[in-house]
Order: sequence, then C-alpha cells, then structure tokens
Amino acid sequence: MRKQYETVIGLEVHIELSTRTKIFCGCPTAFGGEPNTHTCPVCTGMPGSLPVLNRKVVEYALKAGLAMNCKIHTFCKFDRKNYFYPDNPQNYQISQLYLPICYDGYVSVDTAQGEKRIRIHEMHMEEDAGKLVHDPWTDSSLVDYNRSGVPLIEIVSEPDMRSAQEVIAYLEQLRIMAQYLGISDCRLEEGSMRADVNLSVREAGAESYGTRTEMKNLNSFKAIARAIEGETMRQIELLEEGKEVIQETRRWDDNKECSFPMRSKEDAKDYRYFPDPDLPPVVIDDTWIGRLREEQPELREEKKKRFIREFSLSEYDARILTESRNMADLFEETAKICSQPKKAANWMTQDAMRLLKEAGKSPEEMKFSPGHLAALILLEEEQKITHKGAKEVFEQIFDHDEEPLAYIEAHHLSTVADTNVLEQVIEEVIREHPDSVAQYREGKEKVFGFFVGQVMKKMKGKADPAVTRELLREKLR
Ligand code: ADP
Ligand code: ZN
Ligand code: MG
Repeated sequence: MRKQYETVIGLEVHIELSTRTKIFCGCPTAFGGEPNTHTCPVCTGMPGSLPVLNRKVVEYALKAGLAMNCKIHTFCKFDRKNYFYPDNPQNYQISQLYLPICYDGYVSVDTAQGEKRIRIHEMHMEEDAGKLVHDPWTDSSLVDYNRSGVPLIEIVSEPDMRSAQEVIAYLEQLRIMAQYLGISDCRLEEGSMRADVNLSVREAGAESYGTRTEMKNLNSFKAIARAIEGETMRQIELLEEGKEVIQETRRWDDNKECSFPMRSKEDAKDYRYFPDPDLPPVVIDDTWIGRLREEQPELREEKKKRFIREFSLSEYDARILTESRNMADLFEETAKICSQPKKAANWMTQDAMRLLKEAGKSPEEMKFSPGHLAALILLEEEQKITHKGAKEVFEQIFDHDEEPLAYIEAHHLSTVADTNVLEQVIEEVIREHPDSVAQYREGKEKVFGFFVGQVMKKMKGKADPAVTRELLREKLR
C-alpha cells in the first residue's frame, strides 16, 4: 500500500499598496496609462538620481503589520537585492533583508477543522519592477516602467498550511484585511496581489520537512488550487520512485496543468544583498505606532464576532457579511434602522449575493441606501407587500437605489387588504371548490392552505395574507 503523505505549504505574498505616489519618487501609481508616462529619473534608475522614501508606504506597512499581530522593528533599513533583468533598470531592487519592518505575527483563518493560526515569519517593504511586453510580430520585447517603483509589501508565512483550501482561506483573509485597512484592492487577476507557493511533501507523522519547490505565475485561486494538487502529486511520485525532489523555482502552466523548472533556487547570497547607501534607516517612534493602533479600524474577525454577539447571527451569516467591509457596513446600517438584523442578513447573504454573482460584481461595488432596504423590510413585516413583491422591489433598490414605497405605488405592488375585494374573491373560490369546502368542514385542516393559495392566485399574489386568512376562516365556517 502507498504511504500516507502530508503537504506542507508556505507562501510569499506580494501586495501592491494603493498609495497615490510611488515608494521612492513622486510618480503616480495609477494602473494603466501610456507606457513610460508615469516615470522619472528615479524610477527608471538614472545614475545620480536619489530615492526619497514615501512616508505613506511605511504607514500602510505598519497598518498591515499591526493587523497581522506582528512585532515591529522600530529601527529598520532598506537593502539592495542585486540582479540583472531588463524590467529592473537599476540592476538592483530596493527591498529589506536584514531588518524587515515587521516580523513574528499570525493571521487566523477558518478551516474545515475550525480556526487556525498561520504564522507570519516577516513582512517587508520593497519596490515593484517594470513590465516586459513581448511582441511576437516584431519579434522584440518592449519595457514599460510605469509599474517600476510601485510600493509592495511582501508577507512571508511560516510553512503552516496543509492544503489548497487552507492556502485559499489564508489569501482570502489577507485580501479582506487589506480591503478593511484600505491599503490595497488585492486583485490576483490584475497582479495587485501575487502569491508564490512553496511546497514540500513528507510522510505523515514525520518531524522534519521535505525539500521544497517554489511555484510562480499563479494568478487566480483556481490556478493556485490546481498547482498545489499537481505539484503534490509530482513530488509524491518522485519519492515513491525513490528519487529526490530538487529545490528549484518552477513555473506553473495552468493550460497544461503542470509545472516546469524555471531556475535552480537562488539563495540570499546569490543576490549580494547590502544596505542601500542612498536611504537612511527608518526610525519608527512609539507615538506613531500608538496613533496607528488607535486609528486601526475594526477588522474582520472582530466584526464577525461582534455581529454574532450583537445581532444573534449565525456564524455562517456573519462570515459572509464580513467578507467585504462594504457589505458589512450596509448590513449593519440597515439592521440598526429597522431593528430586524436576521431579515437584513437574509437579504444580503441570499438576494444581494445572487444578484452580485449574476452581474459579475464584487460586494465592494454594491451601493444603495440602507434606509431603503430597511423601509422594504418594514413594509414586508407590516404585510403591505408580499415576499414575492419585496423581491422585485429589492432588485430595484440593488440596481439603482429605488425608493421602495414610490416603486410599490407606481407598480401597484402593495397588498390588497380591502375586505370588499377579498370577500368577493373568496366567495368565488368557495363556489369553485365545493369538494374542498366539504373536506375542510369535516376537519381536514390541510385544505385551508389550498384555499389561501387559490385566493393568492386570483389576486396575483397581492392579497394581504393576514386579512385573507381571517376572512377565509369566517366564510368557511
Ligand atoms: P528563501 O529565503 O530561500 O526564500 P525562506 O526560508 O525565506 O526561504 O522561505 C520562503 C518560503 O518558503 C516561506 O514562506 C516558508 O514558509 C516556505 N518554506 C520553507 N521551507 C519549506 C518547506 N520545507 N516546505 C514548504 N514551504 C517551505
Ligand atoms: Zn518616478
Ligand atoms: Mg525568502
């Protein structure tokens, strides 16, 4: 029988910070733009130009570090990582090796086995590289330095993850964290979040780790999950054949669904790291950290726990609602206005989520007045509108923030409680179904629902349910 193996995964995640300007110059970080228009002598590596650190980058990095429960190097430095590549105009990248700004933290993630802590080894600040554009028509490569010098934080985890699900839960948690902090939009597809997956396998129960490979070029959660499956199998097969895993960097090809060697794994020493002589050390004082701690918004985990406590929501609802800060805020405001948290949660987790999916939008893009949803919830509660009608109104609120009462009136959606109208319909129904009437009178309570249904059908769903029931009981007696 085959041996049992365990997958061990550690992640290096790059997150592009959404500061207005680059890390060492005043050029805009805005995505897109004509090639080489967001550039200057600093970010194109001209000799003699000097970098000046953007204070906001340090602030954003500290916010992330605090959110990940990290310790802070209050005296930290920048180092040069030397290598040649055309997208790197200085021939070195300014990064942090010896004294990264944050270290020793953790992120809590939800897994199938409950909450799990993924430890953070360190987090540092660095600059992004430019972009090479390969043009097959002219058989040439062009370079665009607009991205050169865009600030990044790199978050290095300990090898604490054991499955693709845990990896995705961890990445989701980082994305949500960055979004709550307002420091990045973290879009894998657009490259504002990038994950390198370090993976090894070992026999179940083994104490030491196996040899790892590193996979790059993963730009969706699906690709990450497939790459983890594929690489796990490849390594297990090697071990089963008595071969060794070679420590190397591999490129995952999501179309072929397999990875290829890219280069042998380089060590820190290959980069000839040394302190950047152009940048003074960064000294972070306690007042600054104290202020940031105070300003730190309520983060996802806290918010989730508070929603469960304050609004008696289920763990499931609280989790979905807090996946996006915008969704959480819309929910909370609505719940406060109408004092119906469970109903507000249902509209969000069911109807809003469905409509978002249909429109291919993210919860962050959702926009409507909580007062409108609250009003709709109360109208349904007072039975001024049926649930079916309310669904129609909700779509209008969701689409263009329609005022519910105005829409209900304009589209004649309000329920009919007029006893004259209802009595007529009820009498009709009773006339049309003498057999059922007889059954009801013999004590078959079940047929009562049938009568309600018939009245609703004739009223196109708009009969006031409470009044209908009352009148039906009377007439059927
Ligand atoms: P390097 O400096 O060579 O890049 P690090 O020690 O910084 O190596 O580790 C890089 C990443 O690899 C970290 O996220 C770490 O958790 C992960 N890692 C280290 N060893 C292993 C292993 N044996 N299996 C899986 N991941 C590992
Ligand atoms: Zn510049
Ligand atoms: Mg490393």
